[in-house]
Amino acid sequence: MPQRKLFVTTALPYANGKFHIGHIMEYIQADIWVRSQRMQGSMVQFVGADDAHGAPIMIAAEKAGKTPQQFVGEIAAGRKQYLDGFHIRFDNWHSTDSPENTELAQAIYRQLKAKGLITTRTIEQFYDPVKGMFLPDRYIKGECPVCHAKDQYGDSCEVCSSVYAPTELIAPYSTLTGARPELRSSDHYFFQLSKPQVVEFLKAWTQDKDADGTGVPRLQPEMAKKAGEWFEAGMADWDISRDAPYFGIEIPDVPGKYFYVWLDAPVGYLASLKNHFDRGQAKDHWHPASRTDATFEQYISDPQVEQVHFIGKDIVYFHTLFWPAMLKFSGRKTPNQVNVHGFITVSGEKMSKSRGTGIDPLKYLSLGMNPEWLRYYIAAKLNARVEDVDFNPDDFVARVNSDLVGKYVNIASRAVKFIAGGKLVAGDLSALNPGRLVESVRQQYESRDYGKALREVMAFADEVNLRFDSAAPWKLVKEGKSEEAARVCSECLEAFKVLTACLKPVLPELAKQAEQFLRCEPLDWDNAARPLGEGHQVGEYKHLMQRVDMKVVDALFEPAVDAIPSPQPSPASGRGREAGVGVGAGAPPPQPSPGGGGSEQPGGEEIGETITIDDFTKIDLRIAKIVECKAVEGSTKLLQLTLDVGEGRHRNVFSGIASAYQPEDLVGKLTVMVANLAPRKMKFGVSEGMVLAASHAEEKQKNGIYVLSPWPGAEPGMRVR
Ligand SMILES: [Zn+2]
Repeated sequence: MPQRKLFVTTALPYANGKFHIGHIMEYIQADIWVRSQRMQGSMVQFVGADDAHGAPIMIAAEKAGKTPQQFVGEIAAGRKQYLDGFHIRFDNWHSTDSPENTELAQAIYRQLKAKGLITTRTIEQFYDPVKGMFLPDRYIKGECPVCHAKDQYGDSCEVCSSVYAPTELIAPYSTLTGARPELRSSDHYFFQLSKPQVVEFLKAWTQDKDADGTGVPRLQPEMAKKAGEWFEAGMADWDISRDAPYFGIEIPDVPGKYFYVWLDAPVGYLASLKNHFDRGQAKDHWHPASRTDATFEQYISDPQVEQVHFIGKDIVYFHTLFWPAMLKFSGRKTPNQVNVHGFITVSGEKMSKSRGTGIDPLKYLSLGMNPEWLRYYIAAKLNARVEDVDFNPDDFVARVNSDLVGKYVNIASRAVKFIAGGKLVAGDLSALNPGRLVESVRQQYESRDYGKALREVMAFADEVNLRFDSAAPWKLVKEGKSEEAARVCSECLEAFKVLTACLKPVLPELAKQAEQFLRCEPLDWDNAARPLGEGHQVGEYKHLMQRVDMKVVDALFEPAVDAIPSPQPSPASGRGREAGVGVGAGAPPPQPSPGGGGSEQPGGEEIGETITIDDFTKIDLRIAKIVECKAVEGSTKLLQLTLDVGEGRHRNVFSGIASAYQPEDLVGKLTVMVANLAPRKMKFGVSEGMVLAASHAEEKQKNGIYVLSPWPGAEPGMRVR
């Protein structure tokens, strides 16, 4: 397989709000692609950054009583919990408000200027005399000149959809101060995209069917077609300057003029990469195969490095025209692929920019929902085309439960029972042709046809389950054919290994647990179809994935009490930029996710499936007094406790705490017990309940066992709720 050098980015999120589900979908799409590339040994540098400049951030920061730097710094500090929570592994996350970006944006401008592609023009624009600034279109409202609807934005009417210039509005006013804006003139700087050499270059670039010899075109066919339409309409020069006051990068040698945010935003890809290299992280970051000793300058000019962008369909114009032209005419390499995805809708409804969708990513995590459920669901719905992805709650529950739990995980949990001591016997999977599956799935990931890849994976899982069912190993065992049962089940576990490799880019944490169970080396495309082989010893099977409960999905869509939307200014670019959910000023601070979600497993195990209060109240917890306690003859684990829960009788309970307590330590103490647990007959007698104790899932020996005890004042028989 070709070992490639890949520089991969996702669109830079505008730093005026938290991530919404649209961001998370894009990051999951790119993360899956990167993980699959790494499984074939490609060296990937995967970077992101906050897009921190522009008028909307300047204004939002001012409203919040903060400097723009403080404002975007707080937004940036909230990013990690989303990325970690959904297993999205960027190698670096940076900001466009950085020295690297200033240096690179100014250098690119100087080089374009030296090529004679920068010009100035005097333009007339609305100016807010109270605020003392030129107004972006979105901060001007007035009466629509066509249908006379009131309070329409400066660039388009939401009632009749007419598009117009802000100067055509009737009775315009500034949304910042309410003042009537004045027309004032100012010198603006333009990148001359209309020049013949630029147009010729872009025509060829956008229509390139095989940019890097991999058979993958630079643009998807529908995007190349779109670009063709833009050329027919004619290329206009691009206004790249804004007047002070502006939060951005100053134009060299022109005091009081700044780059328009869309000039420096894509340069942020390079700035984040440069920051990554300059910090020495490219040498020793988390993925060893991607280490390189190159400097940023060597790396970015290496002809073998492929530059791959993942973006949404709303910012195609910027990425397929402005950005490649900026790179080309400043003497730089241009992107090899610009991969465009559609939007995410929920139950068919489009996301509102001010309210987001019904899915809040942090709420998803804080409910203890498994991030890999979402990764799987989104992947199953993604293809290589520019189509919207719909999140349907019923479909989500059905797919995760049927595919991941019912088909995939089920294979391991059923098969391992019939293999004595977990030692595999000789088998033959060749009829299923696992090698063909692996190569096909790898190619589908490469071309971003994730839905197709997962359909093939699940079809394979169906065949494996069919084999298991028709062989009926439980019957074979009864008929004394245990060897035959072990052979069938060894083949099933070999198939489970192949499936695990195929799912690994989508389900990295589950794959890690499955690898531990299989006791195999880290799976990649090379070893995916290689059999574990006769005599291979697998580990103890632990449950790999919970089913989704519809109730928790319902909870995800329950509106928050404080979620009443307030009117907010839209970002300056209006038509282009992906807006965050609300401006930071009015948004609550990001909440940490209490357990679940993250890759951290509190106490060595994931937080359990969500239960309702009704489920909880079924458990009757009572304060119990330990009246008597003694060692159990013939057991090193158990202590025998005599408990008083105020019932006028005593209860006998066996508890596995002998390694942690001497019997005399416990006598007279209060603790908490499950009082309505069905009595259980044990080797040493009947146990009438259970005492609560805390321990780490794996390391009881090392970390100990701790019996719970109430604060002073509690009395035997009191209910714990
Ligand atoms: Zn109108």
